[in-house]
Amino acid sequence: MLANSPVESFSFAGREIFLKRDDLLHPGFSGNKARKFAYFLDQEFAGVTKLIGHGSAQANSLYSLSALAKLKGWQCDFYVDHIASHVLTLPTGNYAAAIANGTRVIDLSSLIAANPFVQRELKWTCHEYIVQQVLPAEPNALFIPEGGRCQYAEYGVNQLAAEIETWAMQQGMTDLKVFLPAGTGTTALFLNQYFVRQQSDIRVLTCAVVGGDAYLRQQFSMLNPNSAEHPQILNADKKYHFGKLYPEFYAMWLRICASGVQFELLYDPLGFIVLEKYLPQWDASPVMYIHQGGLLGNETMLPRYLRKFGQSSSAHGEKHLLSDAKTLCV
Ligand SMILES: *Cc1c(COP(=O)(O)O)cnc(C)c1O
Repeated sequence: MLANSPVESFSFAGREIFLKRDDLLHPGFSGNKARKFAYFLDQEFAGVTKLIGHGSAQANSLYSLSALAKLKGWQCDFYVDHIASHVLTLPTGNYAAAIANGTRVIDLSSLIAANPFVQRELKWTCHEYIVQQVLPAEPNALFIPEGGRCQYAEYGVNQLAAEIETWAMQQGMTDLKVFLPAGTGTTALFLNQYFVRQQSDIRVLTCAVVGGDAYLRQQFSMLNPNSAEHPQILNADKKYHFGKLYPEFYAMWLRICASGVQFELLYDPLGFIVLEKYLPQWDASPVMYIHQGGLLGNETMLPRYLRKFGQSSSAHGEKHLLSDAKTLCV
């Protein structure tokens, strides 16, 4: 069982923030996805020899599933809609690390194109294809739907919540604001639900990184219809598209990485932008940010940022920042 990631103190926007270092959970299996998949690590699955998942070819969940399969001694098949040619020619990040762990990344579009028995006109999603075409022939496979957005995630997230509760108690804190950026919102939801049900004064605040606030609220409701147990959603001033590059994200990432802790480039920049906006409105109550890992993704994201914003930044004399970033964050 993976547990008890350390809590560090971190200075941000003139305030002390406590940082829950879930990126340090385990060298191969860490962060948000390790918490969400912890159920599968801890339980015995008699007869299972293979893990099947799906998602994007650069997803943190691809790498985490490959690491989980390796820890369990299982094979791992991961279905993707499509693999970009530059990923195939120069594998990096989550994709490369998953392949190195022995995972087969299966491109559904080329699989269907190569199989004359599959009706071409049928546009399968990976989920449909796995359920209808793969699982019937794989009695020893365990299927984990995309990104870990289901009830099984509650098991590992409860463990995270219990660690935070114990830590706060040891610190003599009664109230604590826990902040983390959300994708599907599964982690934020199960965390807040735990604290409400424990009648603790710890509360979870989050921001929508994928989709908007309405999408996130909908995701919460799917997992738990009781909105009294939902985390508070803090909104950003601007609408951002997931995975797109923004100069203010890059600038924030450089700032937070300058503290010496490495953050990731998809969720953390918006997380800290929103945190900085709301911090002055909060009273003196302590604040904890959850570092949810995902650092392997920087191998893919950082070169994209350097290509897009690197040149103009160095023209403005920020060369040292860029080289710092390269040594710090790759
Ligand atoms: C998956 C992921 C998230 C989003 O988690 P949800 O539970 O879907 O909200 C946030 N940060 C990192 C680094 C992730 O890998």
